[in-house]
Amino acid sequence: MSNIILLGPPASGKGTQCQLLLKQREYSCLGTGQVLRDEVHSGSELGVLIESYLNRGAYVPDQLIMRMVFQWLDNQVSGNWLLDGFPRTMAQAKALEDYGYTPDVVIGIDVDQMSLEERILSRLICSSCSATHSRNIVGSGSCPDCGGVLQVRSDDGIANFRNRFKNFQQFTMPLYDFYESKRMLIRVDGSHSPAEVFRHISKLL
Ligand code: ADP
Repeated sequence: MSNIILLGPPASGKGTQCQLLLKQREYSCLGTGQVLRDEVHSGSELGVLIESYLNRGAYVPDQLIMRMVFQWLDNQVSGNWLLDGFPRTMAQAKALEDYGYTPDVVIGIDVDQMSLEERILSRLICSSCSATHSRNIVGSGSCPDCGGVLQVRSDDGIANFRNRFKNFQQFTMPLYDFYESKRMLIRVDGSHSPAEVFRHISKLL
């Protein structure tokens, strides 16, 4: 068992691999994108502020996301944690370390930009259980996991994706070197099917 961080560009499959890991081992898992979307749906003042970032494909400010993540980590009484989508900037990675939470393994999922764009255009999210599916596989019917309504994520337009991808290159890519230098990073080719990528990750863990 170990504490794990999942790194990767938008639509690289972080959330999907996170769900597969959760089926196999016991983790407390935090997906920061989903937490932010839940806050938006709550209609709170904070949610309105967060939405203004998500709508532009911008990262939310470090201080805002760090407060949410550290509060969550502090509430985990025992066991291992799995972070999907945090840290995404050097400031977040350093703060996590300073705060005393050290990952054992950082999994970097690699997928090229063209494949990511194809995925974004067919990605659907379940409005009930938040699972992600591809229109190419499930059509546009209901969620195969829970029967909920499948929708296009509001931030999954191509222009929004390109902003997120640019942010990933500028702010998140430096984390690969940071964790590589600490010998924590393992990289996996995320261009295969979710099951194949998961098999690869399982072998490396
Ligand atoms: P994706 O990886 O496809 O962009 P996520 O659901 O992981 O999807 O995240 C959605 C959005 O939430 C991100 O594009 C970003 O705007 C915001 N977000 C999530 N995690 C962070 C973070 N650690 N720092 C800043 N913004 C974040």
